[in-house]
Amino acid sequence: MYILFIEDDAIETMKFQRTMSKLETKHSLIEAKNGEEALAYLESGKSLPDIILLDLNMPRMNGIEFLGILKQHDKIKYLPTIVLTTSENRDDLLECYKIGIAGYVIKPLKYEDYETKLKTVIEYWDINELVKA
Ligand SMILES: [Mg+2]
Repeated sequence: MYILFIEDDAIETMKFQRTMSKLETKHSLIEAKNGEEALAYLESGKSLPDIILLDLNMPRMNGIEFLGILKQHDKIKYLPTIVLTTSENRDDLLECYKIGIAGYVIKPLKYEDYETKLKTVIEYWDINELVKA
């Protein structure tokens, strides 16, 4: 599975890479530090990811701004996007679902809990039929 991981925090990125390395199935990661970088990748003509994992709080272009633009793009608006955030803000949650997301996951603070939760997310998407663009 090809995953676009959008996150500004280097420690969060390392946590995710470490979790991915422990999974039995192989995944390819594309990393972007904010919405702008992610859009540049998606518009570059390179192969599209199967799913997107999206942080909300990021400089330059945050997650909600990114989602809004993604959904206006006919070619890429279908990409399943799962929000991965520490924000338990109900307005953020509601706004994301209104724009259109495939999931909203709160990042646990403890690494063990993070790993368990993220493995579940990836395993769930592994059993889904993906567009493979
Ligand atoms: Mg962040």
